[in-house]
Amino acid sequence: MTMPSKIPAVQWGRKLPRITIDAEKCTVPFLCKKCLQTCPTAVFRVDRVMAKEKRLEEMDPRVDGNYVLSVRRRDKCTVCNKCIDVCPANALRIELG
Ligand code: SF4
Ligand code: SF4
Repeated sequence: MTMPSKIPAVQWGRKLPRITIDAEKCTVPFLCKKCLQTCPTAVFRVDRVMAKEKRLEEMDPRVDGNYVLSVRRRDKCTVCNKCIDVCPANALRIELG
């Protein structure tokens, strides 16, 4: 059996990027979703802010603050910056540790 000449790089102790979402700029993420649709590794998620018992019209995605964008898989971010490129509100910032 021959051993591989080069051992593949392993990301031991990789520092996770810091992902900042400016909620004052990203006000209607459920309507926009551009970063979610663009991110190749599904880092983002949109959550409903309002309680479940609220009426449907009160959960209107066009109303500011009814939904909020959050980062669920920071470990999956490859810092490709595709989300920053598509964000129309310039609401995202990604920094390497
Ligand atoms: S930088 Fe790339 S991998 Fe990271 S959250 Fe944005 S689109 Fe996803
Ligand atoms: S692309 Fe920008 S404005 Fe749109 S949901 Fe993502 S962070 Fe918010």
